[in-house]
Amino acid sequence: RELTVELGERSYPIYIGQGILTNISALFDRAKLSRKSPLLIVTDESVAALHLERVLTLLRDGGFAATACVVPAGETSKSLAQLEGIVTAALQAGLDRNSAIIALGGGVVGDLAGFAAASFMRGIRFVQIPTTILAHDSSVGGKVAVNHPMAKNIIGAFHQPELVLFDIDLLLTLPEREVKAGLSEVIKHGLIWDSAFTQWCDENADKLLGLDPEALSYALYIGCQVKAIVVSQDERENDLRAILNLGHTIGHALEAVAGYGELLHGEAIAIGMVGAAKLAQQFGYSEDIHAVTKGLFVKYGLPVSIPSHLDTDRIMSAMMHDKKFKEGTMVYIIPTEIGKVEIRKDVTSQQVREIVDLLKGEK
Ligand code: NAD
Ligand code: ZN
Repeated sequence: RELTVELGERSYPIYIGQGILTNISALFDRAKLSRKSPLLIVTDESVAALHLERVLTLLRDGGFAATACVVPAGETSKSLAQLEGIVTAALQAGLDRNSAIIALGGGVVGDLAGFAAASFMRGIRFVQIPTTILAHDSSVGGKVAVNHPMAKNIIGAFHQPELVLFDIDLLLTLPEREVKAGLSEVIKHGLIWDSAFTQWCDENADKLLGLDPEALSYALYIGCQVKAIVVSQDERENDLRAILNLGHTIGHALEAVAGYGELLHGEAIAIGMVGAAKLAQQFGYSEDIHAVTKGLFVKYGLPVSIPSHLDTDRIMSAMMHDKKFKEGTMVYIIPTEIGKVEIRKDVTSQQVREIVDLLKGEK
């Protein structure tokens, strides 16, 4: 399967399928990547152990000069310290303006390697080879960043990849918890844009959770397509792109308060999406939205309630620090029916607080 992110001269293809990694050099040729300039693969320790040798071999067999820079697995690698490490590796490998950095990994590696590519020599090309389901979201759209100890994703850029290469085979080694968490963003893309796809997700949970290659490649295709459509209409999040943040207001706050690790991103936003559905109910939209949303996440084994030991005050103050908060009210993405959302600017912190409390009691 193939689709294009339409961004004028910066348009790029997304390839999705089982086994497509074997065509890597042909796809790199199509993207006009140079064999004369060295490539740097950025990956993390877990992914390196499972998949790095194969990717390096395929590239070298195709006549590309590739080396690798391996960072520790986990969110803490999205740091300026790791960025410096990648620049060191890039200099040692002799990367030049025609080189490319290749992100082989999940969203952490994608964001880190992407920001390295955006800043090395004021910007060189980059390629996304996502290895998590969640990364169908992060690999498309060009947002790249590292974290500061005080704020997530605060040092970043918009830097679109040359291509995204999604090989289902790479996903088959994912731990079950990462599979579920990744599917949370897939479901989100249905909830914001496509009711038929939401229904499909409801009917095909067993296949997706069982990593059925055909079902997975279809779901990733639709997920990437929704993201691509939204991003091509609003690359820099002036308005429409904000809808991708469904569930993220509460979700980000929960991640911050729980500490990274206790709640995965996909888990936190599943709870957040149930919260947004509850808010929709309070704004007078159909009660079915909440029932359907919650039902879906329960089916996928994702959490739908806030762990009771997380303090409401702390969750609220984490939200205040988030970029989405302006002058007493927040910009909030609310479902108006399944497959449609609206961007509300009039949601008060009191209303959100009530939702947070309600989410603690959710069974
Ligand atoms: P991740 O990159 O940390 O991957 C999750 C875990 O799975 C890691 O431990 C990793 O080593 C392991 N792993 C990855 N691929 C594997 C494989 N094939 N087999 C076995 N293990 C594997 O996390 P993630 O969930 O992919 O991404 C989360 C990050 O993405 C966050 O930092 C978030 O901010 C970012 N993100 C960015 C965007 C964006 O638009 N740029 C969007 C959403 C999320
Ligand atoms: Zn997300």
